[in-house]
Amino acid sequence: MTNAPSDTARPQPRPGVLDAPVYVPGAHKTGDDSVPPAILSANENPTGCSPAAVEAAREAAGTLNRYPEGGSVDLRAAIAEVHGLPAPQLVCGAGSDELITLLLRAYAGPGDEVLYSAHGFLMYAITARTVGAEPVAAPESDLTTDVDALLARVSEATRVVFVANPNNPTGSWIPAAEMARLRAGLPDHVLLVVDSAYAEYCDDPAYSDGRELVAACVDGAENTVMTRTFSKIYGLAALRLGWAYAPPSVVDVLNRLRSPFNINAVAQAAGVAAVRDQAFVERSRRENAEQRQRLTQGLAQLGLETPPSVCNFVLAGFEAPETAQAANDFLQARGVLVRVMGAYGLPRHLRITVGTPDEVTRCLEALADFRSG
Ligand code: PMP
Repeated sequence: MTNAPSDTARPQPRPGVLDAPVYVPGAHKTGDDSVPPAILSANENPTGCSPAAVEAAREAAGTLNRYPEGGSVDLRAAIAEVHGLPAPQLVCGAGSDELITLLLRAYAGPGDEVLYSAHGFLMYAITARTVGAEPVAAPESDLTTDVDALLARVSEATRVVFVANPNNPTGSWIPAAEMARLRAGLPDHVLLVVDSAYAEYCDDPAYSDGRELVAACVDGAENTVMTRTFSKIYGLAALRLGWAYAPPSVVDVLNRLRSPFNINAVAQAAGVAAVRDQAFVERSRRENAEQRQRLTQGLAQLGLETPPSVCNFVLAGFEAPETAQAANDFLQARGVLVRVMGAYGLPRHLRITVGTPDEVTRCLEALADFRSG
């Protein structure tokens, strides 16, 4: 007789959980604490956040003994006012990551398919697996979401479709008319999630964050959700704060599934101040556009492929996966942290977040040395 535990003797997670790869976040440390790194690995706002948000967070820190308000009422009211949306149709999440998880827990499970664009945000496929569903990737055209390719992969089993617009890590986007064509081509029972995490960076008149598709959800076809985040242009990634604009029946489902105090009090207070400080958002957008142009031009001058990006990051394409990896390691040794893209099916590319002017200079100088070395 042996006391060795067998696999069946210990608790087993539900189907799919152990099939999900663990998400690897962008690095924030180089291992050498003597030089402050240029952190260009996680699409954060390199300049920080609104000073009003910091002040609100400090003030909220005075009552940490109290539970937060459970429904993020003030925060939803502020978002509703600034964005011109109905507060009862907003749900806040601990990052839009939590909203992705809740939507998949609600609407997908074993035997179901979750459709996304091949180089779409990694958490769609990872989270689909954790609920036991099968992630299905549709190919892209020119590193851009291809509506026809998505529609061609819709099956009887499709339950949820995710489109990040603009998309991470490609930086590309599709016009509002294309998103509307996707919605129109999907069966009514399929949930379309328009992930507009980078909406603020795209000012093309043909772009929309997807709100009109949510507003059009009437007559029982309550099937489109838009998600947003405070982690990118608002510079509040540390607080974990996102929100969804959804039809009433989806709001009801999300409110049943989320934990009762999912948004902490500091995040709620800072979020209210941040969303009201649109001057900060505007400044960030302008600075990002300037530095993105510098970064893109500099990369092109070094002979690297630079697919057009409207976001706060760009892809840099190298000759081969090994070259991209070597460049990543070289940059890291120089204190510049970027992101390898193998997990996104782009092993020849590095994703570089647009930094401050100094950080962009550091990155380009290090890459120039790498290219000439
Ligand atoms: N969607 C996209 C497209 C993203 O790039 C990210 C962050 N990398 C998220 C959602 C999640 O962001 P958060 O949870 O910080 O809101």
